[in-house]
Amino acid sequence: MSRFPLYSALAVLAGLSTFVLAQNPPAGGAAAPAAAAAVSFAGPGMATTYSSVRVSGPFVAITFDDGPHKDHTPRLLDMLKERNIKATFFVIGRNADAYPEIMKRIAAEGHEIANHSWSHPELAKLPQDTIRSEISRTTDAINRATGRPTTLLRPPYGALKADQREWVRSTWGYRIILWDVDPLDWRKPGAEVVSQRILSGTKPGSIILAHDIHADTIAAMPTTLDQLLARGFQFVTVSELLKMEQPPPAKSTKPGQPTSAPAATAGPSVTPTPMPFDAVLRAEPVLTPEQAAKLPQPTPTPTPKKR
Ligand SMILES: [Zn+2]
Repeated sequence: MSRFPLYSALAVLAGLSTFVLAQNPPAGGAAAPAAAAAVSFAGPGMATTYSSVRVSGPFVAITFDDGPHKDHTPRLLDMLKERNIKATFFVIGRNADAYPEIMKRIAAEGHEIANHSWSHPELAKLPQDTIRSEISRTTDAINRATGRPTTLLRPPYGALKADQREWVRSTWGYRIILWDVDPLDWRKPGAEVVSQRILSGTKPGSIILAHDIHADTIAAMPTTLDQLLARGFQFVTVSELLKMEQPPPAKSTKPGQPTSAPAATAGPSVTPTPMPFDAVLRAEPVLTPEQAAKLPQPTPTPTPKKR
């Protein structure tokens, strides 16, 4: 029953008492360090877009998208409650309206609820009025069900251009939350694979992406959550994680004199393993916000798979 964090063991493994995070390099191998260096620190949680958070402890946020689901979400809530884990639910507005009682339970049990659009379109391709409606209707649905405001948006497929993200921030004050751990659970690879991918990718400050609409994902959770707890990770909501954001490490002016651990070796377990998938097949590509902003805007692309 007791699950004591093994933080001291983790600190030894990391070789430092402070974990230093870097953005997870994308599968394509683009220049992640340059992108990370481009982020200026405006204070905890103050940037517009996050795919992970630089923190000084073993904290992670697990997020569940696309629900609530009438069966899977309550089962997941039971598992989270049993372990005293707080998660963040990026809900679809129309599902929130369909299952207000589940919404109330999510809120009552201390989880964070956030906006994932009304009908899960690829927002980046839509006119501003439609984006506004997708976001506002969902905000209203969350408020109707829980009486609470929300402060975070995850665009479906992570698809929102840099100027659109800034517009969302200035219009609603929402931070845009992406992820750095993606088990691709929507492809239904089986619970064991979902679990293994999350365990191999999670590091301090990670934002883990999962979906509470898939049976495999729910089946993966007991083992996944127990293993992460056993490794010393502590679960917080995304908003709590943002409040923990640390400034970037000071730049060394003396070449050859490191001031911090190399980012690639930070973390309690191992260097994150690149996902063994063709990046082209990703419906929701793992890119840093800066990398995403630099992408050429696509000419018509195939409709993303339903997830
Ligand atoms: Zn989604």
